[in-house]
Amino acid sequence: MQYRTDKQGNRLSVLGFGCMRLPQKGGKIDMEETEKELMAAYSEGINYFDTAYIYGGSEAAIGEIFQKNAIRDKVFIATKLPQYLITSRAGIDKYFNEQLSRLRTDYIDYYLMHHLTDIAMWEKLKKVGIIEWIEEKKKTGAIKNAGFSYHGNSDGFIRILEDYDWDICQVQYNYYDEHTQAGAAGVKAAYAKGVPVIIMEPLRGGKLVNLLPESAKKIMSESGRGWSPAAWSFRWLYDQPEVTVVLSGMNSMQMLEENIKTATDSGIGDLSDGDREVLEKVIEKIREKEKVGCTGCRYCMPCPKGVDIPGIFSAYNIMFTESFSQGRIQHAQTVGLTKEPSFASQCVGCGKCEKHCPQGIEIRRMLKEADKALRPLHYKIGLKIARKFMYRKTK
Ligand code: SF4
Ligand code: SF4
Repeated sequence: MQYRTDKQGNRLSVLGFGCMRLPQKGGKIDMEETEKELMAAYSEGINYFDTAYIYGGSEAAIGEIFQKNAIRDKVFIATKLPQYLITSRAGIDKYFNEQLSRLRTDYIDYYLMHHLTDIAMWEKLKKVGIIEWIEEKKKTGAIKNAGFSYHGNSDGFIRILEDYDWDICQVQYNYYDEHTQAGAAGVKAAYAKGVPVIIMEPLRGGKLVNLLPESAKKIMSESGRGWSPAAWSFRWLYDQPEVTVVLSGMNSMQMLEENIKTATDSGIGDLSDGDREVLEKVIEKIREKEKVGCTGCRYCMPCPKGVDIPGIFSAYNIMFTESFSQGRIQHAQTVGLTKEPSFASQCVGCGKCEKHCPQGIEIRRMLKEADKALRPLHYKIGLKIARKFMYRKTK
């Protein structure tokens, strides 16, 4: 196993264990299998375990297994505050104490604000006193490091990053998503600020393995590298010094073994120009299914009316490369749930963006098409309810 360091000099395994979907049996976490996998991961050098308040039963399972095997002080636990449920400072304490009890510990190594999509969410937490709360917990040692996990666009990510002295951040990032969500711009900004970056969705929820077109798999196998589609994804990440830990939800021993092998064999600067060309060709194959040839370069931004052009096109494309629902989820996260929404319907047709698009995309026409597909009536109703809940008043 290889290790990269955090701000305090802790050595974190480059491969982290994502505990969102632990092995199941009879509708419950299979504790026997979970223990086998977590302990195998630990004995192979994995020391970073990621969970969250809302990952059904995950915190309690980890707590039980780490206590039983007496390894709590030998591993790093990252868990997350369900910030979307917080309306008061007392609420923060309530969830935090419950998490300590579930995890059978009196401190959390990395405590993250879960699923921020916008600076407004962070501002809301600040209003209920989160900064003072974090500082207090750090003083007592109940929290060792504070951070946030993020799902909005790169501008929002950078605003949150710059607003506080974070110890860590967590973003979705993979070779296909190089320019979506926080993207390379966000990852590089965090690195420049000295904030370690934890990567989630290295395989885009398994899609870069399961939904990879046959033509793309062929390009990978003809490269002669002998790497699996998953290994290509991990190697692209490990190659970058900006990446600290890559999370993987490994729910079989075979997957665990393969991922450990990749994490052991690869490192910063290992990808050759030829390897990068292979991945570019793979991306082209995936993109053949896309509706808009948007590369996410952002030359068209900012739009004077606040339309998130690349965010909308990315979500629209996901509808065709993955599924309609996945595209709409992405659209909600990056476009619809931000404090100031950035819908295609806000476009007034000024044409400024089209002058800057190197791909020659008819942005105005494509925005209309994307909006129609992305926002059917049921989506609009659901989003309205979600926004009401998210932006309700704090005490
Ligand atoms: S045409 Fe529409 S999307 Fe493009 S810059 Fe003008 S308002 Fe924004
Ligand atoms: S300039 Fe064109 S390719 Fe680049 S993000 Fe905007 S629409 Fe996409």
